[in-house]
Amino acid sequence: MKSDISENTYSELRESVKEFCEKRISPIAKAIDEEDQFPIETFRELGKMGYLGITIPEEYGGAGLDLVSQGIIQEEIGYVSASLALSYGAHSNLCLDSVYRNGSQHIRDSYVRKLVSGEWIGSLCLTEPGSGSDALSMSTRAERVDGGYVINGSKTLITNAPYANLFLVYARDGDRYTAFVVLDTDKGVRRGNKFNKMGMRGSPTGEVFFDNVFVPDDRVLGKPGEGLKVILSGLNAERAVLATLFVGIARRALDAALDYAISRKQGGRPIGDYELIQEKLAYMYTKVETSKMLSYRALRQVQDNPMDSLNSAASIMYAAEVSEYVSREALQIHGGIGYTRDMVVERLLRDSILGQIGAGTTEIRKRVISKALVKRYKEGWKP
Ligand SMILES: Cc1cc2nc3c(=O)[nH]c(=O)nc-3n(C[C@H](O)[C@H](O)[C@H](O)COP(=O)(O)OP(=O)(O)OC[C@H]3O[C@@H](n4cnc5c(N)ncnc54)[C@H](O)[C@@H]3O)c2cc1C
Repeated sequence: MKSDISENTYSELRESVKEFCEKRISPIAKAIDEEDQFPIETFRELGKMGYLGITIPEEYGGAGLDLVSQGIIQEEIGYVSASLALSYGAHSNLCLDSVYRNGSQHIRDSYVRKLVSGEWIGSLCLTEPGSGSDALSMSTRAERVDGGYVINGSKTLITNAPYANLFLVYARDGDRYTAFVVLDTDKGVRRGNKFNKMGMRGSPTGEVFFDNVFVPDDRVLGKPGEGLKVILSGLNAERAVLATLFVGIARRALDAALDYAISRKQGGRPIGDYELIQEKLAYMYTKVETSKMLSYRALRQVQDNPMDSLNSAASIMYAAEVSEYVSREALQIHGGIGYTRDMVVERLLRDSILGQIGAGTTEIRKRVISKALVKRYKEGWKP
């Protein structure tokens, strides 16, 4: 759907998110990573600020804005704390936005406001121990019973699972797929381990088990057997929004690198005076700006056409590679001290690596891009 939001609204939003991040997230960002603790109260403040429900209509307590606005929030939180931004994206885009868009009146009335306010935490459960990239080979089953379904199976590597009140769960329903709203209070739902990750620490990632979980008919998301539609309806937006998180990481790395290149002296001169460091800064800047342009272009393209897999996959593929490259170069510019936990660049590099894995790996994105490109070419599109 076309968006008619003005550039002024986007700038005001960016300023307000920046201010919030500076005041409320920056002071705890290092501790979130070091202690691997999800800052649940700060997360709930994102709800009070209107950021969790940014794409949700005002009648449900949301801000009624669009994907570009969600990208702005994701990028600015990502700049100060990538892990909090990851949890934000899982809750606000992967779960809440999909629950609203695909939900019946009953589902919207029952759950959307709680997710918008942050009273409840949401997650999306697709990946399983035996199925990641090939998500459709999932083995979680939904069996039809009187008045609903019984779900059996397990999901893994789920962002926010250790805290989630609402799980958007995909299950095989015969030879079709159905999406369900499952609650943590449903009998038979059990959380497993929280993973001890190399990066994105503080964004809780865990397992969920479903053991004979009864889910009533009125908690089917979308139509029974049309879970694939639900998955696909959000996938391109998910990729385009996630790209901006990695733009945020890359911007932060460039910021740290510039600061150090100016202040650190060797051989009597700031290291930024040396050509090899200048070359790094030049590439870093150019890649960050290109990645930012591509990401926001993709957000607008997906806003206009939710089936635009080409540009959403291209934006996340590029943003992920750039954030890893720029973080690595920023660490190199810091020399030995960059390799310690005293410097933010070390965290940025660890966090950036998720970019090539989450929301479909780089390898899968390349397949998506090339398939979509060939299709467009055959339809007459020219580079
Ligand atoms: C921090 C974190 C948060 C996550 N959050 C969520 C979440 O909230 N919800 C959720 O459902 N999932 C989540 N995931 C899971 C994530 O989506 C998967 O890890 C990802 O899709 C890859 O699946 P996999 O790990 O099973 O790897 P696999 O699919 O087993 O892939 C292993 C390797 O093989 C390559 N590969 C696989 N198939 C092909 C192919 N056809 N061609 C070429 N190469 C191939 C992959 O690119 C990869 O390099 C999260 C993961 C992490 C690490």
